Amino acid sequence: MSRPAIAHIRLDAFRHNYRVAKQMHTGSALAVIKANAYGHGALQCAKAVANEADGFAVACLEEALQLRQAGIKNPILLLEGFFEAIELPEIVANDLWIVVHAEWQLNILLESKLAKPLHVWLKLDTGMHRVGFSPSDYVSAFARLNQHKNVAKIVHMSHFANADYLSSGHTKQQVAVFQQTINQLPRSQLTDADNHSLEASLANSAAILGWPQAQANWSRPGIMLYGAHPLDAHLQNQAEPKLYFKEQQMLLPVMQLTSKIISIRTINKGESIGYGSIFTAERDTRVGVVACGYADGYPRLATGENKISAPVAVDGKLTQLIGRVSMDMLFVDLTDLPTAAIGSQVELWGDQISANAVAKAAGTIAYELFCNVKRVQFCYSGG
Ligand SMILES: *Cc1c(COP(=O)(O)O)cnc(C)c1O
Repeated sequence: MSRPAIAHIRLDAFRHNYRVAKQMHTGSALAVIKANAYGHGALQCAKAVANEADGFAVACLEEALQLRQAGIKNPILLLEGFFEAIELPEIVANDLWIVVHAEWQLNILLESKLAKPLHVWLKLDTGMHRVGFSPSDYVSAFARLNQHKNVAKIVHMSHFANADYLSSGHTKQQVAVFQQTINQLPRSQLTDADNHSLEASLANSAAILGWPQAQANWSRPGIMLYGAHPLDAHLQNQAEPKLYFKEQQMLLPVMQLTSKIISIRTINKGESIGYGSIFTAERDTRVGVVACGYADGYPRLATGENKISAPVAVDGKLTQLIGRVSMDMLFVDLTDLPTAAIGSQVELWGDQISANAVAKAAGTIAYELFCNVKRVQFCYSGG
């Protein structure tokens, strides 16, 4: 028998979630599949929606080439554009779209000799303060790109810092800065010749789900495609309107991370388990050992030393993590699950256990959990 740690990837759920994202936001949607589709497998996810996706977004040329070389023909946007001038010929040859987020990129783009003009997403920094042109530089950056022989088309884009906090005023402010800046562009240059609409893109998943005022003709859903609701992460601390519960039920988890119980022992009250002996039994405790650890991407800090531990499901019944997560194994409490046995199926996250709940216990976000999954077998279905 091989090691039973498995990431089941349901591509039909990914396709379903893409359709939900499209329904919730007007216009077209770039499926964000950077970082190997948040750990789910970029090529498999891309193929699952290739017939219907308006395009894909990845972080860099290397990620895009992997898709092109496998025959993916949909538009692909490089979210950080290029890092060096030498990438440009390959970007042109592979028909990739680029984000231009900084003066140095703009200079290189305009000075290069290109075989064909490029489709550019010009990034405005409306308050995230990570990359993008400041509002005061944006109008001149646009003027330099607009109608330049190296530029086929310009889409205006920005990114939100706090769209997952529904009670924060920052997102509204960012939308206002975006609109004010766009309004300063010469009106005659704002309309697309074909459909007479402004080509723009603001919304990530959290904005698609929580901020209808951030709609534009392109959206960029990422985490919601994998079935983790980005607004859910802050639910318990804030009295936020629970508008999104409906959508939460509509999103289906794509990854189910499972393994099996490989050892069981009962320890007496007062005895401890695992590295650091951080769990001491307050009653006689039946302990199950699961073949999954931090080398598989399960977060080591999911056993809160002073706080709650991550939930776990054993044969469909809820229990929790105990003791410290080690590299290849972790412990679960089976005291109240007398039927659990060697070989019992354990869900670390997926259908019963949300990745958000595990992430919360570990002080992180579902994005990081997904990206970290490795070494386990990947089993795909629903493609
Ligand atoms: C990663 C990324 C997204 C997707 O964000 P989610 O929160 O996963 O929906 C959208 N836009 C940009 C610029 C990104 O870098």
